[in-house]
Amino acid sequence: MSDDEAVGACGVARCPRMECMVRARNEKYRMNKPFTIPMDNQKSTRASDYFGSLTFSGDVMLKRLPPEVFMNLQRTMRRNLSLDRSIANTVASAIKEWAIEHGATHYCHWFQPLTGLTAEKHDAFLSPTGDGGAIEKFSGDALIQGEPDASSFPSGGIRDTYEARGYTAWDATSPVFLLRAGDGNKTLCIPTAFVSWTGEALDQKTPLLRSIDAVSKHALRIVHALGDAKTSQVIATLGCEQEYFLVDRELFLQRLDLVVCGRTLVGTQPPKGQQLEDHYFGAIPEAVLSYMTECEERLFELGIPVKTRHNEVAPGQYELAPTFENSNVAVDHQMTTMHVLRSVARKHGFECLLHEKPFARVNGSGKHNNWSLSTDTGVNLLDPRDDTHTNMQFMIFLVAVIRAVDVHADLLRASIATAHNDHRLGANEAPPAIMSIYLGEMLTSILDQLERGESKKSAKAIELDLGARTLPQIPRHSSDRNRTSPFAFTGNKFEFRAVGSSQSVAWPNTVLNTIVAESLDLIATELEKKLRKNPSPAKMDSIVRDLLKDLVQSHRRVCFDGNGYSAEWHAEAAKRGLPNFPSTADSLPALATKKAERLFAAYGVLSTRELHARYEVQMEQYCKIVQIEGRTLVQIAITQVLPAALRAQGELADVIAATQHAGVPCPESESALRDLAKQVVALRDAASELAIATAKEVPNIEKRMRHFRDVVVRSIEKVREISDGLERVIPADLWPLPDYATMLLVR
Ligand code: ADP
Ligand code: MG
Repeated sequence: MSDDEAVGACGVARCPRMECMVRARNEKYRMNKPFTIPMDNQKSTRASDYFGSLTFSGDVMLKRLPPEVFMNLQRTMRRNLSLDRSIANTVASAIKEWAIEHGATHYCHWFQPLTGLTAEKHDAFLSPTGDGGAIEKFSGDALIQGEPDASSFPSGGIRDTYEARGYTAWDATSPVFLLRAGDGNKTLCIPTAFVSWTGEALDQKTPLLRSIDAVSKHALRIVHALGDAKTSQVIATLGCEQEYFLVDRELFLQRLDLVVCGRTLVGTQPPKGQQLEDHYFGAIPEAVLSYMTECEERLFELGIPVKTRHNEVAPGQYELAPTFENSNVAVDHQMTTMHVLRSVARKHGFECLLHEKPFARVNGSGKHNNWSLSTDTGVNLLDPRDDTHTNMQFMIFLVAVIRAVDVHADLLRASIATAHNDHRLGANEAPPAIMSIYLGEMLTSILDQLERGESKKSAKAIELDLGARTLPQIPRHSSDRNRTSPFAFTGNKFEFRAVGSSQSVAWPNTVLNTIVAESLDLIATELEKKLRKNPSPAKMDSIVRDLLKDLVQSHRRVCFDGNGYSAEWHAEAAKRGLPNFPSTADSLPALATKKAERLFAAYGVLSTRELHARYEVQMEQYCKIVQIEGRTLVQIAITQVLPAALRAQGELADVIAATQHAGVPCPESESALRDLAKQVVALRDAASELAIATAKEVPNIEKRMRHFRDVVVRSIEKVREISDGLERVIPADLWPLPDYATMLLVR
């Protein structure tokens, strides 16, 4: 549909309703007193003073644990080791005292099952003593191990219900925290991994931790081979920018599609979208700022270093970004951030939509996954610094990532494949589904030099003269920006932009760490072999150059700096042999290949059984999401849109009859009535087709996934198209759902 058609769609008749919404919103905002930090627990108003106050952090441990236990625990955390059981009781007792002093009554093992969400089962600290009294108890065993009755979590066949034992095990490297509900009620959350009784991973954290170990191990080999003896550990770092929409909660509750599916299944484009580009980085509406401030305070308490907030491109769309952290903690913090965004929104009369595409034809939401590797001595291994062309270490890591993305583009694509993200990837605002790397001019010229075996100067950051005397000269960053790339080098890190806004970042990072681990392993093995043969440090430069030359030649086809949205790129990518999997159903089979099995098994990240389980779970999830959408849309079409259309038809018929009775011919109205009646029939037919397609039983899961992709998704689009056509002609007072303009533009 063109913009012009959309403009015609918004009749003046909508305005009274919009005004009413503005009034309601303002009313609510006035009722919602400006947010102030509660002083009841003597909290300072300086964020730095209460930052991390609800986490069992290093400072708290130091105060509350005996020195030898503290040292032991710190060692465990720093080196990513498992906990020494002998100190568990002491640690548990300190955690319990601290939690109870802060008002917690319950504790839970907090884990991340394959649903992509978090799970928690609360237990009270209180235990009856048997003589009518009760004591507060929390043992070392309860801290380090749990056994949730977890038969209902997806396991992809790993765990049959008759042997449904699942265990949770404390991940001491991620801080224990107190999760505060809106009413102040606090629960002690213990980050845990979730595994079956056979030790197979049933969650997102276990393989993530394994992948972090793998990438660290092989990165360390490179760093050591290059002669850095001081580094004892390499850390994967992660910072995720979270995009989201806010809609009025009352409007949200009037839309079954938003409530059930998180996205609108019908709804015609608003007359004004993002074409004026007036929302992006615009002044943040006060009600929204009040919400953001409360979110930040809640996140600061949990030690989550949120840093940036702003309006995003689409009306009603916002973004929040933290400072990066080690990736295990960053993943846990990301899950908590999504929880806080959702729960605080309700308090402020909003609903926070994390879905990748809540509104069709309006910009979708992503989660830019900023990733790098850093040594424990503080060197960012993907920071080129000034001497880029001679910085061998940087070039090795850069080329390792290029190789990884080229060889495993299919897996990277599969790692972000969800029914939700399908609506965003490849659309005109999101990165395309073809995985490619944006490097920018400077690094591209370095690749040219590497390929030719030269070493010249690289483009340095130069000063930008702004032309006005009052303005300072500013250094121009050597890597430019390209918003169309799914995987971009942004100065000192890679930004995986195709990640979906509602998804857990654990899986994309597991895949990223593993594929890079493989590249680093390959390079380290070559390097070590050559250095053994020729141990002279003077030879190092030429050894590395030869190695990188081959790798660049073989893998630079995945690098692309142009417009990723263009049709030319699709043709060019096909010529280069890069895979293009437009939908989830096309891309998930990458998880079932021998290549994937070998990769994940070789680095101890997932056994073949664990990998297949993930494939199963993701296929199931895809089908279930599309099925739920299909059912929801049938219900909306039959019980809301159709009755509204019939009422409109009746009103129009009455008007025509009355007009003709008065002796005035009205052929235009008659023709409008005929059109409307036709659309009503078409809607009923399309809805019944959708109902049949959605209910069709296809026992084989792979075939079922293809059925949903080929038949149900299309059928949903068809119903939507007819419904959106009706929305443009039905009188506003008869339209049964809040429209896009009301949801997106009223603040
Ligand atoms: P934008 O991409 O919008 O310009 P920034 O460049 O400020 O935003 O950074 C985006 C995110 O990248 C932030 O969360 C930041 O902490 C993270 N980031 C910066 N450096 C690194 C790094 N070395 N490793 C991982 N994430 C990083
Ligand atoms: Mg970014």
